[in-house]
Amino acid sequence: MNPLDCIFCKIAAGEIPSDRVYEDEFVLAFRDIHPQAPVHALVVPKKHMKNLLECDDGTAVAVLNAVKAVAKSEGVSESGFRAVTNCGPDGAQSVEHLHFHVLGGAQLSGRMG
Ligand code: 5GP
Ligand code: ZN
Repeated sequence: MNPLDCIFCKIAAGEIPSDRVYEDEFVLAFRDIHPQAPVHALVVPKKHMKNLLECDDGTAVAVLNAVKAVAKSEGVSESGFRAVTNCGPDGAQSVEHLHFHVLGGAQLSGRMG
């Protein structure tokens, strides 16, 4: 995919508005437009990569550190939360730009698939 056509690249560039909850040099996090829990943020690298399989070591560290920062700033680090990345068709990935969902603020289902 051409990153110019990527919705999360457009959000990272500020071309599409989003409700940002975290930002650093490499990573952006914003609220999911269709939240599936009281807290539902998406943590994305600013650089386009399709999914976890394309993620380099430095980006992996930056994204996971941002997941922790979002969990803390959203107030779910003590109560608990889920961080998940969907990968490819069977993983139900609908946006082909790496993102981690951070879900919490309520008891989540134990069902994972
Ligand atoms: P996936 O299914 O790829 O794991 O997750 C994609 C997520 O992106 C979905 O939860 C969907 O609601 C969210 N999403 C799709 N388009 C937008 C958008 O334009 N803005 C925001 N904030 N979230 C979006
Ligand atoms: Zn992208």
